[in-house]
Amino acid sequence: MSRAENPAEPIDIFVIGGGVNGVGIARDAAGRGLSVALAEMHDLASATSSASTKLFHGGLRYLEYYEFRLVREALIEREVLLKAMPHISWPMRFVLPHHKGLRPWWLIRLGLFLYDHLGGRKILPATKSVDLTKDPAGKALKSEYRRAFEYSDCWVQDARLVSLMARDAAERGVNVMVRTKVTRAEQVDTPAGGDRLWKIELEDENGPLQPVLARALVNAGGPWVADIIAGALGINTSEKVRLVRGSHIVTKKLYDHDRCYFFQGSDGRIIFAIPYEQDFTLIGTTDKDHQGPASSAKCTDEEADYLCRFASEYFDKPVTREDIVWTYSGVRPLYDDGASSATAATRDYVLSLRKEGAPLLSVFGGKITTHRKLAEAALHKLSPFFPQAGDDWTAGATLPGGDFPVSDAAALPARLREDYPFLSEAQALRLIRTYGTDCWKMLGHASGPEDLGQAFGAGLYEAEVRWLAENEFARRAEDIVFRRTKFGLRMSGEEIAALDEWLVAQQAR
Ligand SMILES: Cc1cc2nc3c(=O)[nH]c(=O)nc-3n(C[C@H](O)[C@H](O)[C@H](O)COP(=O)(O)OP(=O)(O)OC[C@H]3O[C@@H](n4cnc5c(N)ncnc54)[C@H](O)[C@@H]3O)c2cc1C
Repeated sequence: MSRAENPAEPIDIFVIGGGVNGVGIARDAAGRGLSVALAEMHDLASATSSASTKLFHGGLRYLEYYEFRLVREALIEREVLLKAMPHISWPMRFVLPHHKGLRPWWLIRLGLFLYDHLGGRKILPATKSVDLTKDPAGKALKSEYRRAFEYSDCWVQDARLVSLMARDAAERGVNVMVRTKVTRAEQVDTPAGGDRLWKIELEDENGPLQPVLARALVNAGGPWVADIIAGALGINTSEKVRLVRGSHIVTKKLYDHDRCYFFQGSDGRIIFAIPYEQDFTLIGTTDKDHQGPASSAKCTDEEADYLCRFASEYFDKPVTREDIVWTYSGVRPLYDDGASSATAATRDYVLSLRKEGAPLLSVFGGKITTHRKLAEAALHKLSPFFPQAGDDWTAGATLPGGDFPVSDAAALPARLREDYPFLSEAQALRLIRTYGTDCWKMLGHASGPEDLGQAFGAGLYEAEVRWLAENEFARRAEDIVFRRTKFGLRMSGEEIAALDEWLVAQQAR
């Protein structure tokens, strides 16, 4: 029998791809009462959705490309999402130093005026100007940068957003299959002679599974969206995806405050420098057309040097390759609108619906910030096929562990320490920003680290590993140390390998 679904019983929607868009659509559909399954060929968020800059943002830069619809939708979404997940996302202030010779002061002021007013801000504070000769944000910068604007956006732990949505989706009945690839899908007649169905063929690490029958198919394969259409589905289409690689570098901490920097370059591009995982600084991104398979995306030496050079234009102390402790790279699956440069290609999403026989919905583009709206739009497109589906519901629904007001977020780590005094301030902050109110369930009756089971290094204990395996579909060490947490920045190769062996042994039991 299948480890997936009973093939004789068609489900409503089958989703290909466990990135933010696929999981978002599956969760939304299940909450409307539809039966849903999802297959992800690697780990959840193993592709683009863990390689972003991790911002819920309107995208100040997109105003220059007149992407007002996208910017407005994303600006409004920032606060909707912040309220739904106040543990894994939080407000951030961005310092944008004025660079003589680049965009004039008045133009940036105008852009930020629109940014402040297009999106109905209630929680996030407004833009202000900053005197860098007096403000601590000026201390890390070259003395020629004397004034700046400071505006609001939000941070989000991108991969955690996906695994928490998957957990929520599973609790609502979605069959989430990780490390399961869709190898082929074709339309078949129903034995009873009704509407046509999709027959989806799957393969996991142990070989082929029983096919699944579904009334509708959603292709949320991200960078693989076009390969899936042409390959697994065997359909000819003129729609193209433009693969644009973006790389980030992580350095040891470059400055001592909690604000981010927004730097402009003389090539017209912008990069961010962001406080990261308490002891590091995240710098990115690049924008390069990507050739070859999406899985091959790596930060090249050329990109690392570009980011170091770019940041060194601003930081008083030059950023060099020696400062880099980690890099990562992802591929944006943008809708190919024929734009001349990778930077100018639209960041807006396109949902393409084929209605011949059983419906097929393919997702192009999109942002972490707009995943919820994209999922709603996807369900609206599919609604004629599912008249029984419920109404929009995700706007007010919190993710697991996020059931507290945004205003309580700052106090939660101290509350956790009252109940678990053996935790350091840094540990309590990390735990709250990873699990929110679920920390109490995960830590249970522990009265010291010895109650948390085996220690895997850098402060990762068995209780957390088990929680992630049991509740968030983690199977291998990399799922845990690079996506559901960032322990990989602090653990040695040997420690990660030992964790992996432990996980494999547990699953073999
Ligand atoms: C460098 C960079 C920075 C970014 N920064 C931001 C930001 O700060 N804020 C923001 O809002 N957005 C940002 N984005 C955009 C955002 O990350 C992406 O739009 C989003 O993650 C795309 O999600 P997705 O689900 O469509 O694709 P993915 O996350 O790539 O998911 C697709 C999944 O499909 C799976 N798959 C493919 N084929 C199959 C198959 N045959 N069977 C089963 N599974 C399959 C893949 O393994 C993959 O996990 C950034 C993107 C990049 C690249």
